[in-house]
Amino acid sequence: MSIYGGIDLGGTKIQAVVVDAQSSPLATARRATPTAGGPADVAAEMQKTLREAAAAAELEPHALAGVGVGSPGRIEGANVTSASNLPDWEGTFPLGDVLASALGCRVVLGNDVRVATEAEFHLGAGRPYDSLLGVFWGTGVGGALILAGETWLGRGGAGEIGHVVVEMDGARCTCGRRGCMEAYAGRAAMELHARHLHEEKGRGTDLFKLMKQHQRTRLTSGVWARALEHGDKLAIEVLDRAVSALGAGIASVVNVLDVEGVVLGGGLGVRLGHPYAERIAGAMQPHLFADSQPPQLHVAALGDLGGAIGASLLVRSEG
Ligand SMILES: [Zn+2]
Repeated sequence: MSIYGGIDLGGTKIQAVVVDAQSSPLATARRATPTAGGPADVAAEMQKTLREAAAAAELEPHALAGVGVGSPGRIEGANVTSASNLPDWEGTFPLGDVLASALGCRVVLGNDVRVATEAEFHLGAGRPYDSLLGVFWGTGVGGALILAGETWLGRGGAGEIGHVVVEMDGARCTCGRRGCMEAYAGRAAMELHARHLHEEKGRGTDLFKLMKQHQRTRLTSGVWARALEHGDKLAIEVLDRAVSALGAGIASVVNVLDVEGVVLGGGLGVRLGHPYAERIAGAMQPHLFADSQPPQLHVAALGDLGGAIGASLLVRSEG
């Protein structure tokens, strides 16, 4: 029976999984994504993470039928270019070849958000539907589309829901443009905004104390969740702003495409879960044109393993 590996390369963490022929996880491993160095350092951490997962499944990586990788950035064959939110990865790096020679097995690359959406479509919350919008609320806000049962790529750039404009001439986005949904809702943008309110406007918050207490260098999803549990006013305000932006952005996409379902994933989406999915559905409602039949909004059923499980499907589809 064939066993497959999958690696989800995120801005905050690297998640690896080893799955059986039915895509059920046999073992998992997780490491923090390096914040310094460059692509070679990230690749080294990736192969360590996959090795840990394989060891937990009592396998050597070369015994796997293949390893799929979901990566940010532009993917052309075995190369990844301009992987944003990763250290010094503006240029092109042969990630597929580097991992294949380190692990001794076949490696196939795919777009991180697309593979996670396909995993939800085939194995998770999107199973009842023919059309699905995946929204991955994490360091940035990624999106992918499945229309009439097929991933819609457009001319290659489809699905970038994070860069739907929710405010003309609004906040500066990491993409260099203004007013994008991600500039309000992405974890990185939320951190910058919280820091600005705290350090320059003198607003009180426990966010940065919690970050240090938990030995984090960033305001991770867990730090946000803990601050919310403490009723931290500034955290609540920044999250409210993110929810409004997500509601407007997702509703705008639904107005154009009328998808049956929306799956909310990503570090923040999975961590904050159902209560926030409901809040986002509520924030969408006033912006929906066909407001009597909103799409169902689900939290990713595969949780934060969806990206890695979806990546493992890449090696399968290439048989
Ligand atoms: Zn943008």
